[in-house]
Parts: sequence; C-alpha cells; structure tokens
Amino acid sequence: MNRPSTVRYQYPKALSEIPLPIAQAGVLIDINSGFRTSRPVFDHEKCVGCMSCYAVCPEGTIYRGESGLQVDYDFCKGCGICAKECRFKAISMVPEEGENE
Ligand code: SF4
Ligand code: SF4
Repeated sequence: MNRPSTVRYQYPKALSEIPLPIAQAGVLIDINSGFRTSRPVFDHEKCVGCMSCYAVCPEGTIYRGESGLQVDYDFCKGCGICAKECRFKAISMVPEEGENE
C-alpha cells in the first residue's frame, strides 16, 4: 500500500522561518459571536514589537495600527494564546463587561 511521504516536523528557530500569516483574518465568519469572556489588551510601554503574538493568533486579528499593535475585536475569540505567548507580559486578558459578576 502506498502511503504519502511524511516529513518530521522541524521546530522553527526564528520567527522568520514561520510562514506568515499563519491564519488569514476572517477564519471566524460571524462578527463577535458573543462567546468571548475576556479580551486581550496591549500595554504599549512593554511591547517591543517582536510580533510573536501576531504569529500565533489563530484568527489573524492582530495588526499594526497607528498607536501600536491593535486587535480586531470583531473576530478575536478571546483564546488568550497571544497573552500566553508574549514573553514581555505586554498583553493582559481583561474580562468582558458583564462577565464574572
Ligand atoms: S508578543 Fe508581546 S512584545 Fe511581542 S509584539 Fe506581541 S505584545 Fe508586543
Ligand atoms: S485572544 Fe486569541 S483570537 Fe484574540 S488576538 Fe489573542 S490569540 Fe488572537
């Protein structure tokens, strides 16, 4: 039986080895579907612009705005991966209003 050839996964050593963007914006097709319980908020004083958060966001919702990195909250699902990834603790997950009360 012929099997497709496989390649052992090579963990990238630098951000430049990651094909970007990993995900196109709009993976979620409904705007703000309402299940997000917290949202990422950037501390622009701490951010060094390494773009690791952008690289790992599964929805492609992080982008460079005029005042630093921004999030398209219409499509951010609040997974928190970006905050977990940021080594500089520049992203905080803030509860959405009305949640956890
Ligand atoms: S991972 Fe952190 S430091 Fe890097 S660009 Fe994102 S918010 Fe800024
Ligand atoms: S919380 Fe998740 S979906 Fe929202 S910007 Fe961060 S990684 Fe992307």
